[in-house]
Amino acid sequence: MDPKTAALEKEHEEVTKVKNINTIEFGKYEIDTWYFSPYPEEYSNVDKLYICEFCLKYMKSPKTYQRHKVFFLFLFSFSFFLFFFSYLMKN
Ligand SMILES: [Zn+2]
Repeated sequence: MDPKTAALEKEHEEVTKVKNINTIEFGKYEIDTWYFSPYPEEYSNVDKLYICEFCLKYMKSPKTYQRHKVFFLFLFSFSFFLFFFSYLMKN
């Protein structure tokens, strides 16, 4: 490896060696991370990151995550209900 590549390698290693987020919660799964993940600064120093399994939105607090899930479920059931209702009205 030539010195320039080696230097770049080293720099890359320096930037990415700190595993910033330890675990993620994705739906019902809790997953340990392996590497550095380039999330926005605001999210880069949390121990656990919550990721919505439906829309992949990431959140740093379990409260927000819970609220987001409830909202999504509500939206989903509501659109289903509308669909069903319009079907009944047509026939
Ligand atoms: Zn979502």
